[in-house]
Amino acid sequence: MAKRSANKPAKRKLQSTIKEVFGLVRNQYDVPPPPEQKLPLIEEMILAVLAEDAQEARARAALVRLRERFCDWNEVRVSPIPELAEVLADLPNPTDKARRLKNLLYDVFETEYTFEIDKWTKGGIKGLSSKFKGKGWFTEYVRERLARDVFCNNACPVDGTAVRVWSRILGVAPEVSVVQPLLRKALPQKDFADVDAVVREHGSVLCTERVPRCDACFLAVSCSYVAQNAEGLAVTEGAGRSRARSNRSKGKTAERARGGKAGSKPRSSAKAAARSSDKSRTKKRSK
Ligand code: SF4
Repeated sequence: MAKRSANKPAKRKLQSTIKEVFGLVRNQYDVPPPPEQKLPLIEEMILAVLAEDAQEARARAALVRLRERFCDWNEVRVSPIPELAEVLADLPNPTDKARRLKNLLYDVFETEYTFEIDKWTKGGIKGLSSKFKGKGWFTEYVRERLARDVFCNNACPVDGTAVRVWSRILGVAPEVSVVQPLLRKALPQKDFADVDAVVREHGSVLCTERVPRCDACFLAVSCSYVAQNAEGLAVTEGAGRSRARSNRSKGKTAERARGGKAGSKPRSSAKAAARSSDKSRTKKRSK
């Protein structure tokens, strides 16, 4: 009993850090609005697979590309993995995503012989789980996201990226079973979709898997990872704050900083390219 009450202040501190960090991250990144029309169940399932450990906007753009490139989901099902990976090239691990997507489509087709499966929504998330539990593509994140988006459940999906980001910030174990209850306790249900999207964005842009970019991160001041690695990272409180301001002024989304539309260059590199081509033209004329 005494032990439980001793943990309470620590938990409250973690919850207030979550609220504070969520406010900062939500200000920093644009959250794509929900689709105007409800998607068919098969597309919600595909989107859940594409979005895991990826940026939400890129996952949605990939779904649109798949619709445009292939005549139907059966054509996607029978297409070779390298061809699908090419369409999914701007998502992390496109080959693995393509494999999971094909497995999903095979499993659905073998169960129903059609992709018109909206009638499955009647069985709720439990019915869907009973069909696909144990399948590699039907991860905990996919299940929770479908529960949230299709079945209006109060699910709070947490993928590997979110676990990594939150465990670094809060200094807790990198486990879904640790992070998810803290998020549930700290945030209202209406924020579960936003926190999922913006934290995946942050994990893709700054808090990356191998080497987090703490020197450029607007959360450095309140991050446990920085506090624990202060000497190696050499991040000062002032630097963290001024970088936060500078990041915000550079534009709200890192998507834009990375080049916005697929295939276009980031603005700065486009300017550099224009400058270098001007210089070479000037040199040629002077010769
Ligand atoms: S300061 Fe570093 S570890 Fe902390 S959230 Fe930012 S990038 Fe991640």
